[in-house]
Amino acid sequence: MFDTHAHLADSRFDRDRDKVIENAVKEGISGIICVCSDFDELDVFYNLLKEYDFIYGAVGIHPHDASFQDKLKEKLHQALKKDKIVALGEIGLDYHYENSPRAIQREVFKYQLALAKQKNLPVIIHSREAMEDTLSILQDEGIQRGVMHCFSGKEEDMKICLDMGLYISLAGVVTFPKALNSQKIARLAPLDRLVVETDSPYLAPQPVRGKRNEPSFLRYIIQKIASLREIPEKELSDITSQNARKLFNL
Ligand SMILES: [Zn+2]
Repeated sequence: MFDTHAHLADSRFDRDRDKVIENAVKEGISGIICVCSDFDELDVFYNLLKEYDFIYGAVGIHPHDASFQDKLKEKLHQALKKDKIVALGEIGLDYHYENSPRAIQREVFKYQLALAKQKNLPVIIHSREAMEDTLSILQDEGIQRGVMHCFSGKEEDMKICLDMGLYISLAGVVTFPKALNSQKIARLAPLDRLVVETDSPYLAPQPVRGKRNEPSFLRYIIQKIASLREIPEKELSDITSQNARKLFNL
């Protein structure tokens, strides 16, 4: 199993981070993309990349923090020079919380998409209640490598993403009984473009919903998607792991 999105440098893992990673390995996790979207966590993040050969990194200015771009851009450029940074993200638009003004979110998103192209890195896209703007910006910028993290769009949105060459990532939401749209996407997404993620410590899947999420819980997400598609779990975990390696060029 490959967890394409986990915030392992989050302070909620400070007391037992190594144990959490040990659990993940025991459960059969063979790769993790550790996403750093809080630059105060950069030192912990770099240590994880150094310490564990199967943990790779992604850095990006989150749409929530777009207002602080002047301070954050320099840190981002420094971070992108480090070893084992395999993606730029998570970046995008969040019109639900709207912690930064929408126009500034769009500006910072475009800036980072251009940077990703320049650095030849895939992008990890965050889009909440902003699918239309997200897709039109991705198309305008000619983005072809990346993943829609915790995809929440409709079938038509998925088609646009697939046409651009993007991957679709599903998280714990797919296990929630009322998440019918996410379950529909889980059935329809082409197997060669599907990846999975926990978004730890957020969004714990159904049997452990409400708890702090961790990469070992990825198995609940795999179980759910495999049952929706009526294929063996092993097949789904193998194929999504291969997809993740291809996406992040590992
Ligand atoms: Zn995230």
